[in-house]
This record gives sequence, C-alpha cells and structure tokens, in this order.
Amino acid sequence: MTHAFILNTALNNEQTDYCCRCGPGGLATALRLQGQGYHVEIFESTSRVGGRMRGFEDGDYAFDTGPTILQLPHLYDDLFASAGLKREEYIPFTRLEPYTKLRFWDDSTLELSTDQEKLKQQLAAFRSDLPQAFDRWYAEETQKYNAGYEP
Ligand SMILES: Cc1cc2nc3c(=O)[nH]c(=O)nc-3n(C[C@H](O)[C@H](O)[C@H](O)COP(=O)(O)OP(=O)(O)OC[C@H]3O[C@@H](n4cnc5c(N)ncnc54)[C@H](O)[C@@H]3O)c2cc1C
Repeated sequence: MTHAFILNTALNNEQTDYCCRCGPGGLATALRLQGQGYHVEIFESTSRVGGRMRGFEDGDYAFDTGPTILQLPHLYDDLFASAGLKREEYIPFTRLEPYTKLRFWDDSTLELSTDQEKLKQQLAAFRSDLPQAFDRWYAEETQKYNAGYEP
C-alpha cells in the first residue's frame, strides 16, 4: 500500500513525466527518458537501488542474488550514449578471465572463458562429443542473437 501511495503521488505531480523503480530495467528506462528531456523520478521500496543486482551482506559475508555475468556490454554503451553520457565514466568494465569457475559434485571444475578454443578443450575432457555440441549450440544462439538484436 505504501508503495502504491508513493507512485500515485508522483504520477499526480505535474513536474513528473515518468517514474521508475530502481532495478536495472527501471534505471535504464529512467536514463533513456531523461536523455529525451523528460523529467523522471525514481522510487525504490528497499534501502538500496539495483534490484536483483543489489545483493546483500550478512556480517562479513556478501551474497550475490542475481546477475553474475554481464551480457551484451555494448547495450550499456548505447544506453549511456542515448543520454549523452559515456558509460566508461560511470561504470568501468573489467574483463575477467575466466569469468566463472564451476565446481561439480565430484570436484571436477569448468572454467568458463570467452576464448572458445580454451572452453572446448575443457569440455572435451568431460566428453569427446561436447565440443561439437557446443558449436551447434553456439550457432543456434548466434541466429537468435541476430534475430533479436540486429536491425
Ligand atoms: C538468480 C538469478 C541470476 C541471474 N543471472 C543473471 C546474469 O548472470 N546476467 C544477467 O544479465 N541477468 C541475470 N539475471 C536476470 C536479472 O537479474 C534480471 O533480468 C534483472 O534484475 C531484471 O531487472 P528489473 O529492473 O526488471 O527487475 P528487478 O531487478 O527485480 O528490480 C525491480 C526493483 O523494483 C523495486 N520495487 C518493486 N516494487 C516496488 C514498488 N512498488 N515501489 C518501488 N520499488 C519497487 C524492487 O525493490 C527492485 O529494486 C538473473 C536473475 C536471477 C534471479
């Protein structure tokens, strides 16, 4: 109820063209709208912005609650550029290699890498047909990417 009240108040305020919540979706929308000259207010029901990206701390431990892999980095560049800003001045990206290390129940590990040959060599150690399966999966995903993102 409190949240609905806050949003209604903002919507009735003549100064405000749009209001957004503060997950990645809302923040991106706010930035894009502000870049187009709209007056935007953001509202967040918790104490910190970031939505599922925000994570939480308990004592000495920090917990990652959502996105772990930054996908499609060029979309961030486009987003900031739409508001006349340079993404790297606000969010510097550091490429990690490997970007994720998976540890399985039998203590075997797989280090995910953007270097496909490196990744396929590791897959081959699990099962000889996996590198070809990876190639098939990658070809399918490339088609989906092109359908979704290319003009
Ligand atoms: C376990 C997990 C792993 C994931 N891994 C990845 C990954 O590796 N890479 C990737 O790109 N994506 C990943 N995702 C997906 C990504 O987290 C979501 O796509 C993204 O967070 C969606 O953003 P959003 O702004 O739509 O929603 P949310 O992140 O849910 O943000 C919504 C915000 O609105 C606030 N809010 C809700 N109601 C109100 C209200 N009434 N008033 C004010 N504020 C309100 C919430 O507190 C929250 O801050 C993962 C998701 C999960 C759950």
